[in-house]
Amino acid sequence: MKISIIGTGYVGLVSATCLADSGHAVTCVDVRRELVADINKGRAPVFEKGLQERLQDAVLNGRLKASTDLRSVVLDSDVSLVCVGTPNNGSGMDLTQIVSAAEGIGGALRGKSTYHVIAVRSTVLPGTTEGIVKDTIESQSGRTLGDKWGLCMNPEFLREGHAVEDFLCPDRVVIGASDDRAARMLLEVYRHQNCPKLVTSLRTAEMIKYVANSLFATMISFSNEMANICEGISGVNAQDVWRGVHLDRRLTFPGGQAAGMVEYLWHGLGFGGSCFPKDVAALRGLAKQLGASNRILEAVLETNAIQPLKLVNLLEQEMAISGKKIAVLGLAFKPGTDDLRESPAIPVVDALERRGAHVIVHDPVAMPKAQDHSAFQRASFAADWSSALKDADGCCVITSWDEYKLIRPEDFVALMKRPLVVDGRGLFDPKLLANSGVVWRGIGYAHDKRTFRGPSPLGSQEVSDKRQHEAV
Ligand code: NAD
Repeated sequence: MKISIIGTGYVGLVSATCLADSGHAVTCVDVRRELVADINKGRAPVFEKGLQERLQDAVLNGRLKASTDLRSVVLDSDVSLVCVGTPNNGSGMDLTQIVSAAEGIGGALRGKSTYHVIAVRSTVLPGTTEGIVKDTIESQSGRTLGDKWGLCMNPEFLREGHAVEDFLCPDRVVIGASDDRAARMLLEVYRHQNCPKLVTSLRTAEMIKYVANSLFATMISFSNEMANICEGISGVNAQDVWRGVHLDRRLTFPGGQAAGMVEYLWHGLGFGGSCFPKDVAALRGLAKQLGASNRILEAVLETNAIQPLKLVNLLEQEMAISGKKIAVLGLAFKPGTDDLRESPAIPVVDALERRGAHVIVHDPVAMPKAQDHSAFQRASFAADWSSALKDADGCCVITSWDEYKLIRPEDFVALMKRPLVVDGRGLFDPKLLANSGVVWRGIGYAHDKRTFRGPSPLGSQEVSDKRQHEAV
């Protein structure tokens, strides 16, 4: 099948590469010329495990190419998958890219004599595909839906950091379709994916994506709120609490294997990336518009906004930050990707700099992108984690890259001016670090002077000074 991919960012490029890998003839379209040139040279412009090799192979074998000429690519294909961005513009979802893609496709369809299916893969609110996308294509093509063209909404569920494996072995393929013919055509696109395939209405497909993302975002904010409560209770640590919760057989199978959702039931620095923050905000906005309750979504976003700053608060409890050299390990919003969008590193670096710190950052793959990013212009860049730690007064761990897990307690002691680690991801064993003389502070551990030691006999809550009690 001949497939055109409109918009070749993370989703478009991974979809294009994997569909070419499974035998389709794929052409990517993007408005960014340098990106198109990179793809045609077999160079992946984003970092994802397994992407570079597959892309190179597909380009060499002639199954994948890229172009800026949307019209001729659409004319020469059977199906167009729309993978353009749908960012949040502050007041709601920005549909500029969706509208320009629909205009281009509609214009091309005017001169096309064979049947064509357009599938929206971008995340859009319910009603968008059937509304603005359909209307734009109809007005630009001069043809009503069904007149040699069909419309689908086919949400993407891949996780950055696992994008290639998620695309090749998805949990499900959801196809919202305008009619049976369009649905059959899209099922043909995914014939190699061995998973349940759910055909729905266009609006249901759109809503499935929002509910899925909101569920995981809610689990993350819930986990962070629980960890923040743990932090106030003497003798409790959130890591052990979660381990105990995870052992429920509904979360961890009797053989010991945890369900995938458990990865969202863990405290840290909150969710980032290009999806959860904007998608939860968009659903919250829709709920408000509908007059439906959006209290949970509101709380999820509020908890998430403050979570990264907890790391800076922890550091501040140990030292006056002004004038200090602080190493920040990890800039990507999660390991396995170089994506900096909504990364907790951004508010952390900003808060440290506002407090007068000299920030030195490191990330194993996101450094080239960080060097061009406005959030890191005042920071210094270290070639590796050991250079970042050299003579630092403190270290903030943002991204749980495997290579950071290999840093030994003695490395912190040998390299840092003062071995103080503020660990946003629970990467290190506090006892091991403490034994070597490293001060470790982490989210979810009682550390404040005021900690709750248990209810008093009269039922009132007794909050006492932990250090005083320990001294007695
Ligand atoms: P992105 O910003 O990385 O990529 C979008 C691409 O579209 C850019 O390269 C841009 O130049 C191109 N573009 C914009 N207008 C165009 C036009 N008219 N013609 C051709 N190209 C055009 O976005 P992304 O992260 O790949 O996300 C795409 C969509 O998929 C979004 O709606 C997002 O919410 C959704 N999504 C993203 C992920 C993810 O992990 N990134 C996962 C699931 C779903």
